[in-house]
Amino acid sequence: MADVLLLILSSPSGAGKTTLTRRLLNDKTITFRFSVSHTTRKPRTNEVNGQDYHFTDEASFRQMAEQGLFAEWAYVHGNYYGTSVAEIERAKGEGAGVLLFDIDYQGARQIRAKFPDAVGVFILPPSMQELRTRLEGRGSEDAETIKRRFEKAQTEIEHYPFFDYIVVNKDINVAEAELRGIIYAERCRRSRRAGEAEALLPKP
Ligand code: 5GP
Repeated sequence: MADVLLLILSSPSGAGKTTLTRRLLNDKTITFRFSVSHTTRKPRTNEVNGQDYHFTDEASFRQMAEQGLFAEWAYVHGNYYGTSVAEIERAKGEGAGVLLFDIDYQGARQIRAKFPDAVGVFILPPSMQELRTRLEGRGSEDAETIKRRFEKAQTEIEHYPFFDYIVVNKDINVAEAELRGIIYAERCRRSRRAGEAEALLPKP
């Protein structure tokens, strides 16, 4: 059985990461699992606790961090976000093919430090103008939050050299195809398939 591929998807808010993630999760050929993070952010309309995030308060979050229950955590846009160790273990136990992390560059660095074969994909908008239009069009945040996220986007994009791949989301169908290409190729890496090749060889 091949190991689960840890796939980190990072992007500035509004680049289309959530849409891409949803599309992948509908895949029937590979078992995708979404790593449900903990956050102190308030739920948006339509967000489901335990499905989109584990919504929690700051005291509980801090306590989990102190107990070493997070594989990574970071302070992003004024809230705490973290991936629990349990979430990763669960995906491994369930034999998922790909575990998707929707986390920021700070989290990406921490995951990569712990799991060096995790793959990092950075999703970019085609232009800053388009990013602003998308953020404003979401209608889920107030003007101040949108302004803060837009300003933060520039800083986040500076971290692109850390990632293995870059997908520019101009056309969502093309971006999805590129992302799938990355996933299929990464799953076929020799290092991930060596066990299967070895199993075919005669035992000494
Ligand atoms: P949002 O509030 O829009 O859902 O997410 C804001 C940012 O936090 C996004 O860039 C998202 O990738 C990041 N994020 C979500 N969950 C985690 C997490 O568990 N760890 C880290 N480091 N970042 C996260």
